[in-house]
Amino acid sequence: MADKRDYYEVLGVGKNADDAELKKAYRKLAKKYHPDMNPGDKAAEAKFKEATEAYGVLSDPDKRRQYDQFGHAAFENGGGAGGFGGFDFGGDMGDIFGDIFGDLFGGGSRRRNSNAPMKGANLRAVVHITFQEAVFGCEKELEISLKESCPKCGGTGAKKGTSPETCPKCKGSGQIVYTQQSMFGMVRNVQECPQCRGTGKIIKDKCPECRGEGYISQRKKIKVSIPAGIDDGQSIRIRDKGEPGVNGGPRGDLLVEVQVARHPIFQRQDMSIYSTAPMTYAQAALGGTIRISTVDGEVEYEVKPGTQTDTRIRLKGKGIPSLRNKNIRGDHYVTLVVQVPKDLSNEAKEALRHFDDVTNGRTTEKTEGRKKSFKEKLKETFDV
Ligand SMILES: [Zn+2]
Ligand SMILES: [Zn+2]
Repeated sequence: MADKRDYYEVLGVGKNADDAELKKAYRKLAKKYHPDMNPGDKAAEAKFKEATEAYGVLSDPDKRRQYDQFGHAAFENGGGAGGFGGFDFGGDMGDIFGDIFGDLFGGGSRRRNSNAPMKGANLRAVVHITFQEAVFGCEKELEISLKESCPKCGGTGAKKGTSPETCPKCKGSGQIVYTQQSMFGMVRNVQECPQCRGTGKIIKDKCPECRGEGYISQRKKIKVSIPAGIDDGQSIRIRDKGEPGVNGGPRGDLLVEVQVARHPIFQRQDMSIYSTAPMTYAQAALGGTIRISTVDGEVEYEVKPGTQTDTRIRLKGKGIPSLRNKNIRGDHYVTLVVQVPKDLSNEAKEALRHFDDVTNGRTTEKTEGRKKSFKEKLKETFDV
């Protein structure tokens, strides 16, 4: 790698070139040297690769920093700079090329091998659970329609005794290559074969069981284990329960969205639960034991004398468990609300009036223009 040219020199830009300059410089070179514009020209191809490699490094802030510090050594396998690995030319090229030329070539230059194994599509489902189930986790059974390999034809889609034939149009590649004259010269354009829809195979006698699909849909019951702490709208991924893969690729996944029902008294935010609890005027004033509902059942709480209405208390560890570790739990915040009684009995009314008199008397005693006590009034009147 000793004879490698400096990346900035390759692109013809200064050391301080910004993204736009780099992109412009690379675009110019790539247009000039692209192999599709210069069929069979090895020198042009080498220039194209050199420019793409230089752009790949300089357009990536991390790689550019490494390069500025260590030069080409930064990207040599096992190089002195340590642990950066080689510059993956093949893999990065497609992305860089797509970024720069996606608009220019309509993406047609990106080659896709339709015979390669491909993961199947993901399936989606929704499961409804209660607030309590979300807090403590649960198991649910879902019934979904799952495509399975057809047992009659073994997944080939061809009638018993026959087998799929190689597509005559694309000769099994699944792709059709068109060449097109453009302002830059001949441009190759790869498209999915319309005759075999990219499979590379044609089925003459279709399997009657699956109508040539190779798959049959079956209703399947699937157990979903929902972890404690799950929140409304979160999804659980169940591997390999999606659509079958293509060309021997793995199945897709099943994504189960969890919808949590509202609770009549509890509200949730992240790992905290919020609720209100009533206390009587006497309990608030004198203190006393009240019972508070939590997701773990009722708990007793000692109200301190003189507790004001709307006082918020915290019940530690009575909230929602962490999804990562169910032993870690949030807290439950309870707002204590004084209940004003309605429909009082005469006795209760009398007691309240008496209470009011007594407490008013007590509070006014301390003030300047205080009401005189019964004893004082008596003294004034009779002068005893
Ligand atoms: Zn079949
Ligand atoms: Zn074909």
